[in-house]
Amino acid sequence: MELAELVARRPFPAAGLLLGLTRRCPLSCAHCSTGSGLSTRQEPDGRQLERFVGSFTAENRPDVVMLTGGEPLLLPALAERLSTLARSAGSRTALLSGMFFARSGALPAGRSGTARFGRRRSIPPAILRAIRSVDHFSASLDVHHEREVSRADVFRALHLVREEGVAVSLHLTGTGGSDPYLADLTRAVEEEFGGQVPCLVNEVRPFGRAASWARATRTGPDPAAASPCSMAAWPVVAFDGRVLACCNQDTVDRRPAPAHLDLGHIAEDDWATVRRRALESPMLRMLRTVGPAHLAARFGSGPRPGSYCDGCRALGGDEAVAAGARSVAGGAAGALLDLTAAMRGSREGAQGVVRRHGCAEYAPLVVTGEPARPGTDGRDIR
Ligand code: SF4
Ligand code: SF4
Repeated sequence: MELAELVARRPFPAAGLLLGLTRRCPLSCAHCSTGSGLSTRQEPDGRQLERFVGSFTAENRPDVVMLTGGEPLLLPALAERLSTLARSAGSRTALLSGMFFARSGALPAGRSGTARFGRRRSIPPAILRAIRSVDHFSASLDVHHEREVSRADVFRALHLVREEGVAVSLHLTGTGGSDPYLADLTRAVEEEFGGQVPCLVNEVRPFGRAASWARATRTGPDPAAASPCSMAAWPVVAFDGRVLACCNQDTVDRRPAPAHLDLGHIAEDDWATVRRRALESPMLRMLRTVGPAHLAARFGSGPRPGSYCDGCRALGGDEAVAAGARSVAGGAAGALLDLTAAMRGSREGAQGVVRRHGCAEYAPLVVTGEPARPGTDGRDIR
């Protein structure tokens, strides 16, 4: 499965599922919004995760399951079992890693050499089995990650993964389309892999790594204007096993979870239940279609102070808003509204998704083999 296929499914409600395997991570990137580290031990119960993924059926399953963290490869055997379970039901799986295992000195020497650079090195067997078990492998790389794991080490490990026949991509972040670091990094990726490794390029923002798949559309000058939230499409399993409707890290971490964004818990609920709640909730349909500010302005006491997501979280206890959402987005009409919004969001495929929610200037890089196009400063970025 290539990156573009995965990203193109992002606008469709419950087409994907994000599983946070652990908050732990051996790295300590400065921008880490999950606050991960080796001492931050918080992770869902592995047996509950397996039971939840084991509840997928051929007829009722997410198309894509994304294994993330923290660092999911700290639990390679669990990642492999979950991927195998999901794939047996027909889902496809992807794993996003910070690449701790690729650090010079972290990769054990391969049979063919022991030199620090320029010789083949191998990936630890348990980690390699987990990587082989997924349909897509993504590596994070940005200025903060590079202080933890060098670019050369990440590239070398990605070559090894590609040799295993697993599709790979890079998740890059920078400050925007004119960021010279991003220009340098994307050029280096192009040179290293000859245009065969796609990149999802995002701007640094205060959300967790799961949110690198999409971000909330910001409200413009008119706070009551429709501004749909595309992050409310794929359910997220948080580090305590609770299932949230969106991947905003503040929302994923907050307890109690806002009622309208709470889809259940993997200890009690199966996938069919979570999916039904995600698809049939009039509040979620309205968030995906018009966004929280419009919803508040139309049915509640008007747009609320604070950020886009603060306003959304505050809607949880507003019965007038819930009733308004039911009146517009309940039943078959609401389902049609939701589907129409998803179709609109997917009209331009993966590149359209990145143009709207990632770093627009680098949207073509989400697809391999795209023709060269000028960057905003006149340079070719591909
Ligand atoms: S690799 Fe990811 S999870 Fe780990 S510290 Fe860096 S940003 Fe956080
Ligand atoms: S908190 Fe609400 S607006 Fe923010 S990402 Fe989640 S669903 Fe969207």
